[in-house]
Amino acid sequence: MVLSDDFLYRQLKTYFGFNAFKGQQEAVIRSVLAGRDSFVLMPTGGGKSLCYQLPALIMEGTAVIVSPLIALMKNQVDAIRGFMVDNNNNIAHFLNSSLNRQQLSDVREGLLSGVTKLLYVAPESLTKEENIHLLKQVKISFYAIDEAHCISEWGHDFRPEYRRLRAIVNVIGTAPIIALTATATAKVQNDIQKNLGMSKAQVFKASFNRTNLYYEIRPKTNAVREIIKYVKNNPGKSGIIYCLSRKKVEELADMLRVNDIKALPYHAGMDAVTRAKNQDAFLMEDVDVIVATIAFGMGIDKPDVRFVIHYDIPKSLEGYYQETGRAGRDGGEGRCIAFYSYKNIQKLEKFMQGKPLAEQEIGKQLLLETIAYAETGSCRRKVLLNYFGEEYPEEHCGNCDNCLHPKPLFEAQDCLVLALKTVTVLLGKFKFEHIVNVITGTSTSLVKSYHHHALREFGAGAEKPARFWQTVLRQALILHLLEKEIENYGLIKITEAGLAFLRAPYPILLPEDHEYLAEDDDDDFFIGQSKSANSFDEELFIILKAQLHDLAHRLGTPPYAIFQDPSIEDMCVQFPITIDELKNCHGVGEGKAKKFGPEFIAIIKKYVEDKEIVRPQEMIVKSIINKSSLKVHIIQNIDRKVMLDDLALSKGLDMMQLLDEIEAIVSAGTKISIDYFIDQAIDEDKVDEIYEYFYHEAESDSVSDAMQALGNNYSEEEIRLVRLKFMSDMAN
Ligand code: ADP
Ligand code: MG
Ligand code: ZN
Repeated sequence: MVLSDDFLYRQLKTYFGFNAFKGQQEAVIRSVLAGRDSFVLMPTGGGKSLCYQLPALIMEGTAVIVSPLIALMKNQVDAIRGFMVDNNNNIAHFLNSSLNRQQLSDVREGLLSGVTKLLYVAPESLTKEENIHLLKQVKISFYAIDEAHCISEWGHDFRPEYRRLRAIVNVIGTAPIIALTATATAKVQNDIQKNLGMSKAQVFKASFNRTNLYYEIRPKTNAVREIIKYVKNNPGKSGIIYCLSRKKVEELADMLRVNDIKALPYHAGMDAVTRAKNQDAFLMEDVDVIVATIAFGMGIDKPDVRFVIHYDIPKSLEGYYQETGRAGRDGGEGRCIAFYSYKNIQKLEKFMQGKPLAEQEIGKQLLLETIAYAETGSCRRKVLLNYFGEEYPEEHCGNCDNCLHPKPLFEAQDCLVLALKTVTVLLGKFKFEHIVNVITGTSTSLVKSYHHHALREFGAGAEKPARFWQTVLRQALILHLLEKEIENYGLIKITEAGLAFLRAPYPILLPEDHEYLAEDDDDDFFIGQSKSANSFDEELFIILKAQLHDLAHRLGTPPYAIFQDPSIEDMCVQFPITIDELKNCHGVGEGKAKKFGPEFIAIIKKYVEDKEIVRPQEMIVKSIINKSSLKVHIIQNIDRKVMLDDLALSKGLDMMQLLDEIEAIVSAGTKISIDYFIDQAIDEDKVDEIYEYFYHEAESDSVSDAMQALGNNYSEEEIRLVRLKFMSDMAN
């Protein structure tokens, strides 16, 4: 196609209303129009869609656009139709498993009449016989493969159906291909081109540097507390929080909501309607935060996401880059914070165990890159770009945690010499861990079988720990003195620059790595109790206990029915001085706080003033009691007045186990009422007797004491049920 100079600009303006192309869009579009295979690597938000949409509208025939994002196809198609003045619905269609018969026939008609310019298809629909048959009758202008990294097992979202695309294209009818992706290492890029048979494609690669994104890694201690603090300190800003498992997504979303943050969960296990509702609520800014698995976000175009938090470290740097890339698409603030712990890494390794060996090997390599990124003391941007084969020219970007808080430097000339020498002696045939083992003199079966303990280098660095040598080797990789052969399962080789360094070594300062502790925990949902950073005030505890007994006496009720010890203890850590703050203490619900709280907070207030105690500056984070899905299930069913024996049966519990759960729920301050069940299950007089006992006689809440005092006529179950009723009455 020969085009006058301003033709494309006019088309751009007419169809999309834009005045200028973004980045390399124009060059890409010209390449597609010229019928060349084209390969586009542009970061998220770079404007990849337009690279195929505009040529599709201009060219003769129909462009087939393969995209894994079924959920978003409709939006994309609607968007295109919206650009058209004449509202011609046939201009764009999508083909996936969600269509009914009528919709399918509309698609057929559009295609066969030659009006449809863009057809979006899911890869699995493209493999269907009837669709292939249909498309064979259509003139295809070109194929666009969006999210093309799905082709490679070395990418972060491998989809086997993507592997078959080339074969299907050949059957339907060949036409130029444009492949597009927002992440690709050299390895993935190579896989894509090879697999799509487009090794001669014209490659357009934009810089992957997202200058406005700030990168930070934090040890995973009190991560939930830190997340809550972060969100509260950034009111009104939109953010995404990624978790690895659906369960964590639900728990964390609940946890945020309990702390008055507008948050919703999103994961593939939810039903489609709720999922779509939650996604919309986020896009429409009815909620600030979406807590999600990686199922969320691909293709979502919300320009003003201000933070992306990884509660769990991602499986690969590709995934990390992609997910963090959803922050700050408008070029404004975008803070990317990831929490890191060894436990997380171990968990990820465990997930891999069931998989085929080759896949495990790939998974392990990708994970090692993530670990290296998390632990490095170098500029994160530099490391990240280096991973994508891009050289970042500066030493420091000034917009990552390592640049803002530099790690101490150490003189590394001699260590580098030893490390590089070892790699040379091993002829570039071994992996990272093995090289470290040789330097530190660690005898493994691999060392023995290759007689590496006989090498002069074996144990030459034994006075330093393994992690020190890992740092040195990683730095050597970043400095390009060594290189890693990703294709060859990560074998480490020396480079030209490395050889030059060995010939004439020079002094070189390197940053230390971060040291993460094995204790950095993962499951810190039980905050507000022992995990608190503040210390426990014993003197106050004694004062409050005395107050408790006094109040109990006045009310003629046992003290445990007012506050139990864990609640008093928490008060002695948190020093609540308002009813609202008191509500955040362990086991104190709204009812108890209002009914019994005033005297307690008055005492604490005076105590704090007298002693000039600095109250915890941190906000008090409210924990959800031992929040398991079982407990949520129980609470919901009791709300619905489901009979407790049925409830126990449905969950495979016996009655005593169910009572254990309910007691835990009540003692943590959650209101529930089981009157409906007691009324039906226990004789009224008996209920009164037991209730009376707990109200006026009991010294403690012990069930065995109660059984002794009340005699044989009362079963343990009855006593526990009525005690529950009593406890919840007192709390409300
Ligand atoms: P990608 O697929 O690369 O992540 P999209 O194609 O979704 O990016 O485009 C990202 C945003 O950029 C969209 O909001 C789109 O409307 C906008 N955009 C694309 N091209 C241009 C342009 N030439 N001028 C202005 N905005 C553009
Ligand atoms: Mg896109
Ligand atoms: Zn930096």
